[in-house]
Amino acid sequence: MTIHRCKRCNYVYIDEEQEIPFEKVSEDYKCPRCRTSKKFFVKKQSPK
Ligand SMILES: [Zn+2]
Repeated sequence: MTIHRCKRCNYVYIDEEQEIPFEKVSEDYKCPRCRTSKKFFVKKQSPK
C-alpha cells in the first residue's frame, strides 16, 4: 500500500482511501491540514 506523508504536519495521504492516487493529484494540491504544497509530501510504502 502506498502512502504519502506530509513532512510538516504528518498528515497521511493513503491512496486506497482517496479517489485519486497521490501521484495523479494536481500539482497545486495542498495538504488539507497545514496547506503545504505537494512537494513536501514524502512517499512511503507501508506494510499492510
Ligand atoms: Zn501537512
